[in-house]
Amino acid sequence: MNLNQIFRQDATRRQALASGQVVPDSSRCVQCGICSYHCPLEIDVRRHAWEGRPVHSSHCLTCGECVRRCPRGVLRFEKIGLFDGGQS
Ligand code: SF4
Ligand code: SF4
Repeated sequence: MNLNQIFRQDATRRQALASGQVVPDSSRCVQCGICSYHCPLEIDVRRHAWEGRPVHSSHCLTCGECVRRCPRGVLRFEKIGLFDGGQS
């Protein structure tokens, strides 16, 4: 990965950090657990999807791994205000 790509990725991440949270569409989730398996912080994304709850966790890096890996397109980033998040 060259420097430009690194900067671009970092900028994308910062943008997501400032404005995004992971939101599930639980009706599409098949509870395979791939999202949780790939979360670098071991957030139980599968449970959030099961319960239809956004991932509010302050530990979420908004790295996008769960969104990318979900085979069913259940997860997406949704814009929020910087201080709108709840707990966990
Ligand atoms: S990867 Fe997608 S389908 Fe599988 S448990 Fe997670 S949200 Fe559900
Ligand atoms: S965006 Fe990254 S840190 Fe946040 S729940 Fe998904 S995989 Fe985990």
